[in-house]
Amino acid sequence: MKINLGEIINYPGESVEFSYPLDVSDLKFSAVESFNKPVMVTGMVENRAGVLTVTGKLDTEITCLCARCLKRFTKPIEFAINAYLAEELQDEDSEDIYLLDGDFVDMDEIATTVLVLGMDQRFLCKEDCKGLCPKCGKNLNDGPCDCREDQDPRLAVLRQLLENND
Ligand SMILES: [Zn+2]
Ligand SMILES: [Zn+2]
Repeated sequence: MKINLGEIINYPGESVEFSYPLDVSDLKFSAVESFNKPVMVTGMVENRAGVLTVTGKLDTEITCLCARCLKRFTKPIEFAINAYLAEELQDEDSEDIYLLDGDFVDMDEIATTVLVLGMDQRFLCKEDCKGLCPKCGKNLNDGPCDCREDQDPRLAVLRQLLENND
């Protein structure tokens, strides 16, 4: 969405608010199975003493698979938007600066950048997810499986030593 800043661009103290759903149909996120809600972009562009600033947030809800146990779950997502607008780039190191297109700003470009940079590459159903047993495939969050102790290579070595001593 292009936002017209004609009414604030030369008027310190003025602001323009925005709130709209971002089109994410062309974006691919490896860890995201689907977006369950529109990706809402809300906030305002303010003329702060001649500097155009964008503040706001982007929020939605996704469905994803746990990277460890493969459980499917939903997760709310919210990222802050903080950016500056300029007519030309002066400092290449300033990654939060976006170019104006005349009196307009391309809010989609800013929101898409925030979404792509902010999205995790993998999600866990919970911080201490125990994952699946690599042998029998049981979800270890539901309790230990029978082959559990064989997974520890130190125990396997110990068992072998004991057997050799017989
Ligand atoms: Zn999990
Ligand atoms: Zn097992």
